[in-house]
Amino acid sequence: MSSELKEQAGGATRSEVSAGRGMLVVVSSPSGGGKGTLIRRALKNVPNLGYSVSFTTRGPREGETDGQHYFFVSEQEFRRMIEAGEFLEWAVVHGNLYGTAYSQIERERAAGRDIILEIDVQGAASVRRMAQDATSVFILPPSFEVLRERLSARGTEREDDLNLRLRNSVEEVEHYREFQYVVINDDAQRAAGLLASIIYAERARRERQEDAARRILASFKREAEDTVN
Ligand code: 5GP
Repeated sequence: MSSELKEQAGGATRSEVSAGRGMLVVVSSPSGGGKGTLIRRALKNVPNLGYSVSFTTRGPREGETDGQHYFFVSEQEFRRMIEAGEFLEWAVVHGNLYGTAYSQIERERAAGRDIILEIDVQGAASVRRMAQDATSVFILPPSFEVLRERLSARGTEREDDLNLRLRNSVEEVEHYREFQYVVINDDAQRAAGLLASIIYAERARRERQEDAARRILASFKREAEDTVN
């Protein structure tokens, strides 16, 4: 476990974002809610934004690449990683295991990027407990009907799996209340713009600008001394 996150897990108050890097942006939605598209656009448009590639025991879909969409691992390997304490969070979602590894967070932080975690509502709750300054965004599809259409049109799930995802969505949407932001995904372009705006606004929070502000204020003091004397 990273020492910084360990501190947070222990309830320490030190904030990793005060160092001006590594803000965690948790994005959740029911399957088919369109978060994948919105996140891809945010990654393309917002500078210094990275993505935590999750580990899963689910099999790859057509077009999915190991190490890019997910790290596809066996259940045995996933359980070994749990035992070894390699996950920031993990959960059973739609019958498969999914988890965020510390190694992914460390990699993005080392590169000086803020990090999007595309995880389910259980994972979001775990991250909020461990990293209280994480930003959380819930992507809400405009209606159940639209969600059903999107999931069917995607054609990536077998019928029983698709029905399981639809059934689970009814409970998942209830969790929107636990998130700081809600983006209604009625129009992909608008919703992607909103997600980017949330990230920019969160970066500009005073708490996250303390170091930069202190540096700037120090220059004022120096300059003022020179000017006055
Ligand atoms: P899918 O199988 O459609 O790619 O993902 C199914 C669900 O698992 C989605 O709600 C997705 O956000 C969630 N998920 C993906 N990666 C993780 C993860 O690392 N942790 C948790 N808790 N959920 C994840």
